[in-house]
Amino acid sequence: MIRLENVTKVYEGGIIAANNVTLDIQKGEFVFLVGESGSGKSTIIRLLLRDEPVTRGKVWVAGKDITTLPKWKIPFLRRSVGTVFQDYKLLPNRTVGENVAFALEVLGRPRSVIGPQVEQVLDLVGLSGMESRYPRQLSGGEQQRVSVARAFVNRPPIMLCDEPTGNLDPKTSVGIMKLLDRINRTGTTIIMATHDHAIVDAMQRRVVALDNGRVVRDEPRGRYEEEEE
Ligand code: ADP
Ligand code: MG
Repeated sequence: MIRLENVTKVYEGGIIAANNVTLDIQKGEFVFLVGESGSGKSTIIRLLLRDEPVTRGKVWVAGKDITTLPKWKIPFLRRSVGTVFQDYKLLPNRTVGENVAFALEVLGRPRSVIGPQVEQVLDLVGLSGMESRYPRQLSGGEQQRVSVARAFVNRPPIMLCDEPTGNLDPKTSVGIMKLLDRINRTGTTIIMATHDHAIVDAMQRRVVALDNGRVVRDEPRGRYEEEEE
């Protein structure tokens, strides 16, 4: 489903943010990318979205080599990948319903399809009845639920989440994680960058640890910190 093969990313200025990373992720997996700030978590997410080109190596997403993908095809890649970020990235002048509907409008879906799908996904994230509110009228946790709804409304096979609980308190974070877990159980592959130890330890999913752009650990049911022997 996703493969990085000997991927190196050197930013302008010479910082090596990914250093010979090789990683295979199967359909339906839930993978945590962990590591200190600056270890290269967001860089991996950006490479998977072709937000940044690789310096060396190959990246496959949903069966396609995206390192050679022509620019005009990048929007097609992004249709198969839902994204959730720490800062929600909602459109402030659109309602909850409009924010979610927008993801389907750009795909050219007819209104008759958009209405029911938006309603269904808002129900899934626990925001039924809030579709006419504006983002500023919501708590942080509710805004992140809208962002998850928008990412998932067209049922992408892959979701990439970069510190989705980074601005939320622990209790609200648990709610978001339950939601992502539920989405993962429908068969959606999820990659989540985080430095939240409690969440990673509670979920007991695959953990890929980065340090200075290198993969230093990859465990199927890992914890945030390496187990002491
Ligand atoms: P993380 O998400 O784990 O905090 P990042 O992937 O954001 O790490 O950053 C990895 C390294 O790359 C850091 O040293 C950071 O300063 C650097 N970096 C990130 N983005 C850029 C950029 N656009 N240009 C130059 N250096 C960058
Ligand atoms: Mg980051």
